[in-house]
Amino acid sequence: MKLEVLCNVENCTYWAEGNQCVADSIYVVGLDNNDADNVEETACKTFEPRKQ
Ligand code: SF4
Repeated sequence: MKLEVLCNVENCTYWAEGNQCVADSIYVVGLDNNDADNVEETACKTFEPRKQ
């Protein structure tokens, strides 16, 4: 079963209409030494800037 991932980073290569992430998998990291206390301290490492 594929997990639905919603994302609003429109300039990512893996972003598609409807805020769908179409990457096969994503890697999310905690920015505070691999921990996170809140959502601002998490980030998607799979992000790749879309080529213009
Ligand atoms: S790879 Fe990460 S940043 Fe890119 S669309 Fe998917 S969830 Fe968003």
